[in-house]
Amino acid sequence: MTDFSEIRNACMLCTNCPLHETRTNVVFGVGNPDAKILFVGEAPGENEDLQGEPFVGRGGQLLDLYLNGVGLDRKSNIYITNILRCRPPHNRDPRPEEQQACLPFLRQMVKQMQPKIIVCVGRIAAQVIISKDFKVSKEHGVFYERGGMLLMGTFHPAALLRDPRRKGDCFEDFLKLQDKIKALGIEI
Ligand code: SF4
Repeated sequence: MTDFSEIRNACMLCTNCPLHETRTNVVFGVGNPDAKILFVGEAPGENEDLQGEPFVGRGGQLLDLYLNGVGLDRKSNIYITNILRCRPPHNRDPRPEEQQACLPFLRQMVKQMQPKIIVCVGRIAAQVIISKDFKVSKEHGVFYERGGMLLMGTFHPAALLRDPRRKGDCFEDFLKLQDKIKALGIEI
C-alpha cells in the first residue's frame, strides 16, 4: 500500500520557498494513493488554501462533473495534487524557483504511487510535466508515453469557467481518458 504520510509531513513543515509565509493551509492532495491515475494541477487557489484540498469551489465542482462522467471519483479511484502545495498570492502563476522547490515532493509521490496515467490539468502543469512548449489548445487530449507512464494534458476548470466554449473539448479528453483506462486494463 502506498503511504504518503512521510511526504505529507515534510510538506506540512516545508519552508523551501517563500509561499510558506502566506499560506493558510498546505494543500497536499486528495484521493486514493493506490490509484493508477494521478491528476496534477498547478497550485492552490483561494478556496483551496482556505480548505486545504485541491480543486474545490466552482472549478472543483466542474472537475468533479467531468470525473464522475467517466466513472472517476476523487474519493476512491484517482489521486489529485498540484505542482505547488502552497497558494501563490493573488493566484499568480507559479514562479520557476517555486516550482523547482516543490517538484521534489511530486517526484516522490510519483515514485511511490507508480501511476499508469498522469493527467495534467491546465497549461502550467502540462508545461512542467509534459513539455515546456505545451499548448493546451492544440495538444489537449493527446497521450505521450514517458518512462512507462502515459501523460495527457487538458484544460484547467478555471479556464473553462472563463471560456465555456471549450467545455465540450474537455469532456472529449475525459472520454479519451476513459478509453485509455479500459485499453490498459486499469481497474477503477
Ligand atoms: S509551495 Fe512547496 S516548496 Fe513552497 S513552501 Fe509550499 S510545500 Fe514548500
